[in-house]
Amino acid sequence: MLLIDNARIFTPQGIVEGSILCKDGEIVKIGSFEPPEVEDTINAHGNVVLPGIIDSHVHFREPGGDHKETWETASRAAAKGGVTTVLDMPNTSPPLTTVKRLADKRAMVRGRSYVNYGFHFGATPTNAEEILLADNIASVKVYMGSTTGDLLVDDDGALYTIFKAAKQAGFLVMVHAENEALIKKLTADAKKAGHNSPSIHPRIRDNVVAAEASSRAAIISKSVGNRLHIAHISTRQELNVVRLSNGRVTCEATPHHLLLEEDALESMGNFAKMNPPLRSDADRRALWRQFANITTVATDHAPHTRSEKQKDYWEAPAGVPGVETLLPLMLNEVSRGRIELGDVVEKLCYAPARVFGLPTKGKIVEGCDADLTIIDMNLTKVIDDSSIVSKCGWSPFCGFRVRGWPVTTIVNGQIVYNKANFFEPVGKEVRFSHQKGV
Ligand SMILES: [Zn+2]
Repeated sequence: MLLIDNARIFTPQGIVEGSILCKDGEIVKIGSFEPPEVEDTINAHGNVVLPGIIDSHVHFREPGGDHKETWETASRAAAKGGVTTVLDMPNTSPPLTTVKRLADKRAMVRGRSYVNYGFHFGATPTNAEEILLADNIASVKVYMGSTTGDLLVDDDGALYTIFKAAKQAGFLVMVHAENEALIKKLTADAKKAGHNSPSIHPRIRDNVVAAEASSRAAIISKSVGNRLHIAHISTRQELNVVRLSNGRVTCEATPHHLLLEEDALESMGNFAKMNPPLRSDADRRALWRQFANITTVATDHAPHTRSEKQKDYWEAPAGVPGVETLLPLMLNEVSRGRIELGDVVEKLCYAPARVFGLPTKGKIVEGCDADLTIIDMNLTKVIDDSSIVSKCGWSPFCGFRVRGWPVTTIVNGQIVYNKANFFEPVGKEVRFSHQKGV
């Protein structure tokens, strides 16, 4: 049993002062009570305890990318960042697109993870049958435009088939929405004109690239009857697609699209290259103005090595790490007064639990899983590459002065991270409630 005392507890009913008792991985008691004899006690020193953060979009790179990141390094980075559940993307090598590979992945990760985890299942033009056989997956992830790895469904007939299979199996569809034909055309134009600077990236993957694919996915999913979640929206146009769906389409935004703009490509080069790209000031401000219409905030944690990022623009891979800076960056927005702590809990805990079907996660309620994050809203630190635990060892937010940090992370009722120390990898695969026939 674990007792957290002297805490300010963020519950759905508001802040409760007192203690949390955890037993067998569950929250068993919240509030003021006479504590029983326990093995472990943490004094929260009056700090706020949040539900453990759910990062519903990460690339932990195994199999095939362990020079960039391993499950150990990535899940430690998550624990350090107050993240207690991650949902991992399928564009590995080989990609997770068959039930056999899903089983292999489960065997590969078991016993190695510091945080809880689930897996997205990749769509290909021909794997509808595999989708129908898959079990306990976060979503069917469809890459409408090409990015890291070779997963791509850029044919509308194949897209329709995949959406139908996902509907039949009861799975959420999650899209990386970029129009592949437009990317190819704009790439050819840029190469012909002799461009080779990272600053060209937002012109190649222009707003229309994202907007067209998002609206196409919204139209097809409406006709088929899918639940659709659009990954990493970055443009004003995509916000309109989501708004016009009247709540049927949910969406995600990333910290980098909320906090960085395209001019970062000039100062940081390929270290600010990701898909979809950083946008204009007008787009970034629109994301904040319509923050209420953004369902979840997730990182798209996509580490690459420094030497890969130092290549020529055309060769350098797209993607930035983020799992350990997600919560601090969002808490800093609370400190600055842009949003409230309740917004952070909604976008990082309640909403991902709802969208992906994790009814016992993301909230501090008796009977729910004991995944908890203690935060110190008075702690100020500068994000520095030397403090990054992810194997890649760098952050696009290096130099950001941030107020509000996670200090202790509890997964399944056990301390996995406390003040710079890591403990045991006690993470387990989560169970999704949205499945066949649901
Ligand atoms: Zn991604």
